[in-house]
Amino acid sequence: RLSRLATALPPTMPSPSLRLAVVGAGAAGLVAARELRREGHAPVVFERAAAVGGTCLYDAAPAASSADPLASGAAHSSLYASLRTNLPREVMGFLDFPFVATAVGGGADEDPRRFPGHEEVLRYLEAFARRFDLYGLVRFETEVVRVRREDGGGGRWAVTSRKLGEKGKPDEEVYDAIVVCNGHYTEPRVAHIPGVDSWPGKQMHSHNYRISEPFHDQVVIIIGASASAVDISRDLAGVAKEVHIADRSAPACTCKRQPGYDNMWLHSMIDHAQEDGSVVFRDGSSIKADVIMHCTGYLYDFPFLGDDSAITVDDNCVDPLYKHVFPLEVAPHLSFIGLPWKVIPFPLFELQSKWVAGVLSGRVKLPSREEMMEDMKAFYLKLEARGWPKRYAHNFADYQFEYDDWLAEQCDHPPVEKWRKLMYAANSVNKAARPESYRDEWDDDHLVAEAKEDFKKYL
Ligand code: FAD
Repeated sequence: RLSRLATALPPTMPSPSLRLAVVGAGAAGLVAARELRREGHAPVVFERAAAVGGTCLYDAAPAASSADPLASGAAHSSLYASLRTNLPREVMGFLDFPFVATAVGGGADEDPRRFPGHEEVLRYLEAFARRFDLYGLVRFETEVVRVRREDGGGGRWAVTSRKLGEKGKPDEEVYDAIVVCNGHYTEPRVAHIPGVDSWPGKQMHSHNYRISEPFHDQVVIIIGASASAVDISRDLAGVAKEVHIADRSAPACTCKRQPGYDNMWLHSMIDHAQEDGSVVFRDGSSIKADVIMHCTGYLYDFPFLGDDSAITVDDNCVDPLYKHVFPLEVAPHLSFIGLPWKVIPFPLFELQSKWVAGVLSGRVKLPSREEMMEDMKAFYLKLEARGWPKRYAHNFADYQFEYDDWLAEQCDHPPVEKWRKLMYAANSVNKAARPESYRDEWDDDHLVAEAKEDFKKYL
């Protein structure tokens, strides 16, 4: 594919004012719309749901749960009822719209905690949409079903969308560029378990988990060690008979009771499942379980893009992309906001959006295609040198701030605040030291004070 680039590229015609389609009105789509409009463009935001918020829009009754608990529910979010943020609110918010009670609007529903419940995050995104007058840009209950590159060069795209619940022909309109903000928390990734097809228990994915009550007195195996696995295992330990966590990075001999719990154990990964209801771990031990819950993350999925988008998704790596945003072959007419994970998402979305907006207007220059290609190759070499599998391509655990600051520099924006970087690190340390109580006990009040001082300029 790369060797074709020099000839396959459409003429790039950045312009101060373009008609743009943004797919999704979650945190990424909202901030993209704001930045694109600030730059002088005319964005139209397509949103399948009836409201803004995306993942942060809690859905108490996921449609997929009864029929196939492993299936995706394209229109519902992955939040569980008990979810509180795992990042402190000062860190989480957009750079110029602090996530503080006054910005959210307070009121009877207010959740002033530093690590609030998910309802407060939704209120924050709604407040953001109101404050920057974004509602008028969104076409609700409208799904993008196909994005097709227009013939004749120029880099324009035809967008086919359909209004949900309405019969009749889908609409087709032409846009100068597409900004994809469709999120990556709806298509469950499921662990492969030999023998599971004849295992008689129930499997589900954390995508469809909401509350612990249905698991009363059951034996549940949770696969995973991520934030959701940690939260859900603790949620379940309160009602289930036993909770067993299978962690693929735990040594094969692992089988230990979790401190503070008399019904929760950590194990190595599952080896196989058997017809008699037992599940065997890699150390050879086994238990009879009622439920296997896959807390194993999600897959990138762009069902509305075809081959002409010039990207592929292979082992959960979207490529070839320049800096995880622009497909080399069609930049800047197609871009992706929000692919990186293990990050502070909202500020990263904001900086990516500023960059895309600036590039589209021609104010910010992209390097030549050859340079972008070289950069991408160097990135893959680094990934290889770390011994990371391809599916970690968008895992930014070690360099999110380097990336953020690079984006900021492209846009003549100040780097991410020092207090935010320090607070993120302090939260990681606190979470490791106090896994049960980090949301209510911490040692970084001096950074909170610094953040609040900084916020004064925006409030
Ligand atoms: P989404 O929020 O998924 O929005 C995508 C939108 O696109 C959706 O509204 C969807 O309906 C729409 N869409 C998709 N396809 C189409 C289409 N074809 N046509 C029209 N519309 C479409 N982040 C934090 O900062 N702190 C936390 O504590 C935190 N905790 C989390 C806990 C969980 C369990 C999860 C799953 C995520 C958490 N995150 C947290 C991450 C954060 O919620 C996400 O990074 C963020 O909400 C993603 O925003 P997004 O706009 O990229 O995607």
